[in-house]
Amino acid sequence: MIAVDLGLPPELDVWLKRQHTATTIARRIYIDEDIIDARIIGATQGAAAWYSLTQPSQLIGQWISTLQHPADAQLGRLLSTARYYGLHMPTRYVCRIRQVPTPGAFRTVTKDTIQMVVGSETYWLTVLSEATEPPLVLQSERYREALLLTDDLKEKYVGRLSVADMQAMIHERTEPQIHSRGGRPLTVALGETLVLDTNLYLHRCARCTGIWLSADPDPARCGKRPCQQTAWREFTKPFRSMQQHGICVTPQMVREVRHRRRASRGS
Ligand SMILES: [Zn+2]
Repeated sequence: MIAVDLGLPPELDVWLKRQHTATTIARRIYIDEDIIDARIIGATQGAAAWYSLTQPSQLIGQWISTLQHPADAQLGRLLSTARYYGLHMPTRYVCRIRQVPTPGAFRTVTKDTIQMVVGSETYWLTVLSEATEPPLVLQSERYREALLLTDDLKEKYVGRLSVADMQAMIHERTEPQIHSRGGRPLTVALGETLVLDTNLYLHRCARCTGIWLSADPDPARCGKRPCQQTAWREFTKPFRSMQQHGICVTPQMVREVRHRRRASRGS
């Protein structure tokens, strides 16, 4: 049995149909200026079993960073960055993956990963099998060159943060500092909330069009300064009536109107 998300390129489907493999396909996703991660869009039954899940559909939509041991997730991001800059890095190695139904439980596994670009998007095809050596994170001589990459180069490719980092920050109540690019943008409609993961929500204000992350599924105010409006889920009157007339209100339209209002006030 396999499970796929809408939008899996047909070119990749064939990989999941290779019988008896424990395979996942993940797509690189741009969440915010600084947050880049990968999300599973295809999985086989065998892959689900590695995560102690009964159905491959339970893997669809999971963030790669939250499925791995934090140290291994960080190393994975470092390796893909190093490859992007042309360094030769291991593609087959051991890491620790979460046993999803049991918080805090991990299992070691050999991960064989191929990075592919289809159209303008990046995908990772991963085949899981028994671990036959210690985790790669303990064998730094195998990725020594990657350790020489500067933070600036790393941020350019993987952003500064993953979804797992965001969860940790929200948990510790520290404020993330945001700014950088790459991958498919995640779209959130104005005034709406997107569930990124358990306890992590992406909201978009209908008043200022700003996007913010929080652990609260329904914040009382817009999380963007100086906006902080309580009616962040509602359009202002002119946009409401446009919507009633079947016109789709886009963030560009809202920004344009705000900009003009500000300009006319200034003159
Ligand atoms: Zn706002």
